[in-house]
Amino acid sequence: MSDLLLTARSLTKRFGGLAAVNDVSVDLFRDHIHAVIGPNGAGKSTLTNLLSGDLPPTSGSITLNGTETAGQSPERISRLGLGRSYQKTNIFLPFTVWDNVRLAAQSRERHWPWNPLRWIGSAQAMAGVNQRCERAIELAGLTHRSQTAAGTTSHGEQRQLEIAMTLATEPTVLLLDEPLAGMGQAEAESMIALLQKLKKDHAMMLVEHDMDAVFSLADQLTVMVNGQVIASGTPAEVRSDPLVQAAYLGE
Ligand code: ADP
Ligand code: MG
Repeated sequence: MSDLLLTARSLTKRFGGLAAVNDVSVDLFRDHIHAVIGPNGAGKSTLTNLLSGDLPPTSGSITLNGTETAGQSPERISRLGLGRSYQKTNIFLPFTVWDNVRLAAQSRERHWPWNPLRWIGSAQAMAGVNQRCERAIELAGLTHRSQTAAGTTSHGEQRQLEIAMTLATEPTVLLLDEPLAGMGQAEAESMIALLQKLKKDHAMMLVEHDMDAVFSLADQLTVMVNGQVIASGTPAEVRSDPLVQAAYLGE
């Protein structure tokens, strides 16, 4: 069995009377893609926000690389090895691809609370950050776009840029919220190839609506409806689950 890098147990998030995430457990393994699917409003983005620390859970536990992280800040969770992309784009359009990635890489360093000198003025740290950025941009397939203003790149390249920004913090766990949203077929195919490549050495949670992509990429699949998990298992197991067919796949 591959390494278990993130485990979430009985996560619940209430917004007033609504349980947007209700008693959900997930495991993310290195070299595995765990896809989370479900109709709009199922709680997929909220689950992502709980794992990344963008929202504190109402209850439940999260262990990331051996550390309990439920309710901790996104900056600390990022430093512990979690990287995420957002469903809505997080890019500064007037900045170059390089500068966007550079800013994202720096954000991991920025919050060292008691020792700002660790970052500022350390030539070695700078060189390390630059190297990380180069690697991230190359992995995302954007080297030829480094000096292009992000706003003048294509939609598909902007989604690749989001992934490069995520990779620049050198995460071991990646949470990607709808990376294929709004893409044409050619763009989707190159993103699928990129995700396949990123699977190596990362544990990935992929929230995605494109079922062809999900069934071709996922090692593990969780189906959410109204905040709850209605099925979980291999894609083949989930596909043959009558509850899933009735509630979601409409087959
Ligand atoms: P999905 O990503 O699966 O479409 P979301 O996680 O965005 O679903 O939303 C799940 C439910 O939680 C929805 O009913 C949504 O309206 C609600 N919700 C999400 N975020 C908030 C919030 N910050 N405050 C109140 N309700 C929210
Ligand atoms: Mg969502």
